[in-house]
Amino acid sequence: MNLKERNMNVNINAVSDSEVGLAGTNQESSSLTETLFGADTLSIRQRVEASRSTFLNSTDATDDMPIENIRDKFMALDIPSQGSNVDAYLDKLDQDVLPHCSHLASPRYMGHMTSPIPSFLPEIGRLVQTLNQNVVKMETSRSLTFLERQVIGMLHREIFRFDHEFYQSHLQSISEALGIFTSGGTLANIGALWTAWRRAQDRHPAQMQQSVGTLNKPVIIGSELLHYSFDKGAHLLGAHLHKVPVNDRFQIDLDALREAIEQFRQAGQPIICIVAIAGTTDYGSVDDLRAICELAHDVEAHVHVDAAWGGGLILSERNRSLLDGIELADTVTIDGHKQLMLPLGCGLLFFRDPTFSQATVHHAPYAVRATSYDQGRFTLEGSRPVNALYLHAALHIIGKQGYDDLYTESLGRARYMAQAIDARAEFELIAPPSMNILAYRYIPQAYRGKPLDEQDNNHISQFNIALQKAQRQKGDSFVSRTFRPIKRYQNQSLALLRAVLLNPLTKHDDIDFLLNDQIQIARSLEAAG
Ligand SMILES: *Cc1c(COP(=O)(O)O)cnc(C)c1O
Repeated sequence: MNLKERNMNVNINAVSDSEVGLAGTNQESSSLTETLFGADTLSIRQRVEASRSTFLNSTDATDDMPIENIRDKFMALDIPSQGSNVDAYLDKLDQDVLPHCSHLASPRYMGHMTSPIPSFLPEIGRLVQTLNQNVVKMETSRSLTFLERQVIGMLHREIFRFDHEFYQSHLQSISEALGIFTSGGTLANIGALWTAWRRAQDRHPAQMQQSVGTLNKPVIIGSELLHYSFDKGAHLLGAHLHKVPVNDRFQIDLDALREAIEQFRQAGQPIICIVAIAGTTDYGSVDDLRAICELAHDVEAHVHVDAAWGGGLILSERNRSLLDGIELADTVTIDGHKQLMLPLGCGLLFFRDPTFSQATVHHAPYAVRATSYDQGRFTLEGSRPVNALYLHAALHIIGKQGYDDLYTESLGRARYMAQAIDARAEFELIAPPSMNILAYRYIPQAYRGKPLDEQDNNHISQFNIALQKAQRQKGDSFVSRTFRPIKRYQNQSLALLRAVLLNPLTKHDDIDFLLNDQIQIARSLEAAG
């Protein structure tokens, strides 16, 4: 039934407009309203379910369409003047869109930081969208503002471990926040830099006054492996981002960090923030959080820990020691949509001292009021969905023990893959897993078992890029790739294959499959010259 037929049906059955008091609306628009808001959602759900299961039961291997051809399907600009019914629309999605999505949940898809999400979460998602509460302010969310603050508090306590009284007085305090929800790690990191900037203005007003607007910009320091959200944040604030080299375990080099700090201090440039990474995007490596936090406190700089990737491990009794020292940070970013396995849109920024939340407060007289519970005072973003419900549900349904098991298995998978790489002469392991990410590369036959010079390495890099692309195109398994300077090769930048072993559905067999798939593809590339 198309919309027109539906409209006619509705018209036949509907009581007349005047009877239901729709004064001023004509017949046609009232039946549209019926179609939009009174629709038979059960049949729509069944139809969507069919599309969902087709997607879930297919793999990337079933879609070998080149990316340019996919792009060409999305060139039409005409907005239909007549709407269609939902079935016809979903047919279109089945045809043109869903077959060309990434199968991020596939157990042989070990390339990116997005995991399959537990099956109860899309259903919670229906609730989130049905309630459609706006947690920017109390009036549009009520209980859910308190729930959001509560789950932020739950994780805050896992990170910072303050006592009962602390949480009783701060958890639902009207004037401050223990943390904020954001759309992702990027916004959380930018929020942290903004907080650091405002704190520096409060703590060192004269120095900041001098430096703003001159070439003597305020400085943010972190390692060369900083996520590019810090480039964005530094640019927004007009700050200088200084990147320090890493050691051979891909952690910030502490001597180089001390030198950099000293250099900027002597030059009179204010250091507003020092960033430590707990789980680098490239390798999953964790900086020495304790040492960096202590250094930062010594020089009165705000210290931020970007635990977007690694932060989830705070829930894991057996693995939280990987994050030792995180409790000394001023602010911490965690991405719920990575290791906590929540849907996208679940970034979190935590303030060790809740008064830090006041550094960036803004309000508006019409809505987000100064004395209220309105979270919009503390967030860079405005209107926001209550994604906190996903976290709330996951913490209750999975529980700490569940997360502990999931992480322990995930780290075990990464160790297994490292051994499987070492056991195959075709590969070189570049970064053994410090968490559940590892980097390696394929060494073509001609280069095996001999010292490699710069030119050799360039050839090998080109080969690995071709290999990663061919594997992606073949679609049976997937790893991503990165390009980074590597110490053992005199800091030459190398193309590396990067495996992320978060997916709980990935078994040792899948890892073996992926490596063998790679060897086969590589051999045919080598044979083709
Ligand atoms: C993913 C990631 C980010 C950015 O998070 P988004 O949610 O993609 O905005 C920042 N830092 C690190 C270390 C990350 O892994």
